[in-house]
Amino acid sequence: MTYNPDLLDKAKRHPEKQKNPDQPMGKKPDWIRVRAPAAGGAYGETHSIVKQLKLTTVCEEAGCPNIGECWNKRHATFMIMGEVCTRACAFCNVATGKPDELDKMEPLRVAVAVEKMGLKHVVVTSVDRDDLPDGGAEHFVKTIEAIRFKSPETTIEILTPDFKKKTGAVDIVAKSRPDVFNHNLETVPRLYPKVRPGARYYTSLRLLERVKEVDPDIYTKSGLMVGLGEALEEVGQVMDDMRAAGVDFLTIGQYLQPSPKHAPVTHFWTPDEFEVLGKIAKSKGFLMVSASPLTRSSHHAGEDFDRLKAAREASRRA
Ligand code: SF4
Repeated sequence: MTYNPDLLDKAKRHPEKQKNPDQPMGKKPDWIRVRAPAAGGAYGETHSIVKQLKLTTVCEEAGCPNIGECWNKRHATFMIMGEVCTRACAFCNVATGKPDELDKMEPLRVAVAVEKMGLKHVVVTSVDRDDLPDGGAEHFVKTIEAIRFKSPETTIEILTPDFKKKTGAVDIVAKSRPDVFNHNLETVPRLYPKVRPGARYYTSLRLLERVKEVDPDIYTKSGLMVGLGEALEEVGQVMDDMRAAGVDFLTIGQYLQPSPKHAPVTHFWTPDEFEVLGKIAKSKGFLMVSASPLTRSSHHAGEDFDRLKAAREASRRA
């Protein structure tokens, strides 16, 4: 597995976090362990397409534990608008700083990769681009249009930033009709100042609600990480808020600490506890719920999209 060498240089990636005291990174429990990715095969092909086309993936940038499994199935989540994020969330491994200018050819290169990989369903995410007047909304639209042009049968899932203070940005993106519009709430509102200091809980919630107002047919999806200090009742309240905003699909996974300078893991929720979270969420009326220690927004996204469509049809028949 080839890493961008800068990924290993935590101080360079997260200058704003270097003043934080070191938080010990405890041993992960057995249920978190994953197999190292096998070189070659489908993994190698995915890797070479990503590198040849000079694309960035959140799989690598966020140090996702599922990369071996996903890339072996030719499933990668493309991260557009560069490798550098303008926010500095306490949980995130993506580099922080001043980003480069937008690469106008990137939407086409993503579309070429989707075609080469023969993807039935693709997930596209991005860094936060608070420096851009529209937060990168047009770039998302161009990427969706380029994928549609080259691979009209491929379904498209986007995982966007919150476009905070960028009037109209959510509408522009929703009107390009992605099949799934995902925006993660990430954690409970009490922990926002510590965990997502640049974001606002109700801005994120309102984004999800607005997507449904623009086009009720778009599936909306949101995710939570647990293990940051949240209480069960707070997680239940977030589920209620998401349902009130019309969210169709909830993902819940275990937070893993990327470095000693990031927020510490306060608790490793056990697989049984995740099962309880999943049952509570289902009782709230989501069309679909995925809750397990290794659940990530884009994990199994293609299979999940088929199940999501089936769940909507079943609920309409009921
Ligand atoms: S779960 Fe998502 S981010 Fe992680 S490796 Fe799979 S596609 Fe990439």
